[in-house]
Amino acid sequence: MNDLSPPTGGGCRNTPILKERGQREVFCGLTGIIWLHRKMQDAFFLVVGSRTCAHLLQSAAGVMIFAEPRFGTAILEETDLAGMVDAHAELDREVARLLERRPDIRQLFLVGSCPSEVIKLDLATAAERLTKVYAPNVRVLNFSGSGIETTFTQGEDACLASMVPVLPESNERQLLVAGALPDVVEDQMMGLFEQLGIGPVKLLPARNIDNNTTVGPNTVYALTQPFLGDTAAALDRRGARQIAAPFPFGEEGTTAWLAAIAEEFGVDRDLFDQVTAAPRARARKAIAQAAENLNGKSVFFMPDSQLEVPLARFLTRECDMTAVEVGSPYIHDTIHGPDLELIPAGPTISEGQDVDKQLDRVRNARPDLTVCGLGLANPLEAEGLSTKWAIELVFTPVHFYEQAGDLAGLFSRPLRRKSKLSLEAAE
Ligand code: SF4
Repeated sequence: MNDLSPPTGGGCRNTPILKERGQREVFCGLTGIIWLHRKMQDAFFLVVGSRTCAHLLQSAAGVMIFAEPRFGTAILEETDLAGMVDAHAELDREVARLLERRPDIRQLFLVGSCPSEVIKLDLATAAERLTKVYAPNVRVLNFSGSGIETTFTQGEDACLASMVPVLPESNERQLLVAGALPDVVEDQMMGLFEQLGIGPVKLLPARNIDNNTTVGPNTVYALTQPFLGDTAAALDRRGARQIAAPFPFGEEGTTAWLAAIAEEFGVDRDLFDQVTAAPRARARKAIAQAAENLNGKSVFFMPDSQLEVPLARFLTRECDMTAVEVGSPYIHDTIHGPDLELIPAGPTISEGQDVDKQLDRVRNARPDLTVCGLGLANPLEAEGLSTKWAIELVFTPVHFYEQAGDLAGLFSRPLRRKSKLSLEAAE
């Protein structure tokens, strides 16, 4: 059912990976709370951290101040840290105060951060202790969002991976889709599954704890986000099996992702074509319009969101761009292999970062577009290079057919802005 063939001349799956382990410039995993707290309506994220963590959350989530907050920070002061027993007692008091005030909370995540005292504070034990106190009304879990351990999308991975061991067991033959999607995009996806007759479909994360997400040896799972390596490993440990596929970005990626799942569930080819024909045509048209000024341009991905590999596949195959380098914080063949296979051979494939060396490579190549973190974008813009902030790709709905045109638009906007500015300068 999957008609995708590797590019002539071969893809990048077997390209030797340039591995760099130097200084890196990325946000920490706490950032993931910004989109996770919107998704999980009965969850609360209690960051155990410093004032820096509180500031990061406040500024990154500033836009959410009018919403009912589903995250907060338990700031550990020097005095709290004098003894770990005191710190545990303070944490227990903080949780008690929170849960008394907010009976709507059903899942509480204790989120670790960077300060060494927080690292020493055993949040796993605290979560177990608090689960015993508040079960069955509240489930307490923990994960780390520390910048020492996680890049910004790894926060979601760590969060979802922490949920997998406590998912109820099921022997039912079912599909589990892992990865937080905006509700509207998730609804589109569920609509496609329904039309294809694929089910039951379970979601991780679900919108709330009662949504009956289960897992077991007859569960097959598909990832919607390429940064879920730990979640995938946790699902494997529960006996589930991954459906390998390119990620659902763009028309081609969405079709390949759906086709791999449809094949697993024995969906008839004619039905597949019938269900996907109209949205495919709409997506192709939207991409063609939005990608006009991307055709023939070059792109350089610096490692940041872990979306780099599937997005490079989308830009090279569906927007006719040339990739100079595709850098990603981590590359796992089982997760990124199907996309790498489809990227035309040529670009450097790099994992990790040694930021100065990589900036030298950007300056040498002078790509038309560099996809990078916020901290690197401004200096590169000052050198006359067009950039795209990787973080925007995570905060914007970009999956599946109906968002394919918007995805191309995110990349074409900086180039359009640049040519407009040069025209104005020439006038
Ligand atoms: S977790 Fe670490 S990197 Fe992130 S805001 Fe807190 S101190 Fe900074």
